[in-house]
Amino acid sequence: MDNNEFRKHAHKLVDWMADYFEEVEDYPVKPNVQPSDILEQLPESAPKKQGDFQKIFKDFEEIIMPGMTHWESPNFMGYFPANKSYPSVLAEMLTATLGAQCMSWLTSPAATELEERSMEWLRKLLALPNSFTGVIQSTASTSTLCALLMARERTTDFDINENGFMENERLTVYCSSETHSSIEKDVKIAGFGRKNLRKIPVDDEFAMQPEKLEKAIQEDLQNGRKPTAVVATIGTTGSTAIDPLKEIGKLCSDYDLFLHVDAAYAGTALLLPEMRWMNNGIEHADSFVFNPHKWMFTNFDCSAFFVRDEDLLVQTLGIMPEYLKTPEDQRVKNYRDWGIPLGRRFRALKLWFVLRSFGREGLQKIIRHHIALAQNLEEEINQHPDFELLAPVPLNTLCFRFQPSHISDEQKLNELNKRLLNQIQQSGELFLTHTTLKDKYTIRMVIGNTNVEQRHVEKAWNLIQSLAAKLITR
Ligand SMILES: *Cc1c(COP(=O)(O)O)cnc(C)c1O
Repeated sequence: MDNNEFRKHAHKLVDWMADYFEEVEDYPVKPNVQPSDILEQLPESAPKKQGDFQKIFKDFEEIIMPGMTHWESPNFMGYFPANKSYPSVLAEMLTATLGAQCMSWLTSPAATELEERSMEWLRKLLALPNSFTGVIQSTASTSTLCALLMARERTTDFDINENGFMENERLTVYCSSETHSSIEKDVKIAGFGRKNLRKIPVDDEFAMQPEKLEKAIQEDLQNGRKPTAVVATIGTTGSTAIDPLKEIGKLCSDYDLFLHVDAAYAGTALLLPEMRWMNNGIEHADSFVFNPHKWMFTNFDCSAFFVRDEDLLVQTLGIMPEYLKTPEDQRVKNYRDWGIPLGRRFRALKLWFVLRSFGREGLQKIIRHHIALAQNLEEEINQHPDFELLAPVPLNTLCFRFQPSHISDEQKLNELNKRLLNQIQQSGELFLTHTTLKDKYTIRMVIGNTNVEQRHVEKAWNLIQSLAAKLITR
């Protein structure tokens, strides 16, 4: 492909992209494909000869597109959203074009300094403590891994970095039973061992019980263990439960534990002053993560990781081989030392485009709108005799089930709701996912897509009710 062809195809692609955004809600949200359907259409080896772009693009439309799940659709209400927006997509085009690898200041000074500034903006927008410094990571999973490594090294005075785990198998980590699975994965990767992760029981609203946390810490101390870190969640993945940060933070101060706050999804709601009660106690935290790539209209991947002690982070992860030394090292940030991989994408550009395009008020308006849409539906579900909410709705995630009055057997209800979710997915009109809460099969609905409106919520709720009704008349 030469530059002329690139220009020609690029113009066409931009039209295709704009059409897609316009039409996406008419696509079936979930594709109607079986495992291997796509694989079988792809040749087993790469082509030998040069290929014509028009042909490649035709295959994209005919083979790839029919196998896509449309996260961009306002009918996508499963998991947590992976939102994007026009300014973010435009920035990604530029990022790909510049193709900079932003591992150190020298490898792109503007990328480093834009990241520094936009993370400062974010810290202020979310009213995080002044002492926090931010860095963009790929995901919350890797941000939390960095936090656990910091905790590990702080507790052992950098002994594990130096000597490995040999003498240090006593370290323990705490989270709630509702904590995201990435914490367990990170505990394994960081070498603590899964057996040394304590999952603290939750209360009726699925939030960690601080008394139980203290009991577990004391037990471990009595058994000669070294309690090291607590991961508190603001907005659990199951039901957006909010762990009591104040009480947990106090315990961390009393017992000298590292406190990491996982607000991967719900952190975005801290843009709203009326939601900042969730962060009450943040002054005790050593680190905090939230993902603009979930609810803040910034393409995957963009995870905002904040730490209180940047020296601890850099001392934990820093490396300085001869070939990476630069004359400015003493005066600049080299973000390669702030995370796991050496190479880094230029992610700050899309965040900056988003923050400038929407502005604080623009972001707040949409987030408030999403929460209001969810809370209206919460009321409708509450009033419906055959549906039951299974968790509080502090934000925009609804956890509910179908519970017709003549069925009370828990196992039957679980099966019924599993069938209901399956029918919803098959419809292609709506995409929801599930979890279990107190052993109950729970349908989850998240109203947080960039372009979701009242009419999408109404359509979804009508569909759920009618599919449910059909399930019991059969
Ligand atoms: C989504 C989520 C994660 C994982 O996020 P990634 O960026 O995909 O790693 C972690 N914690 C919570 C609470 C989440 O909702």
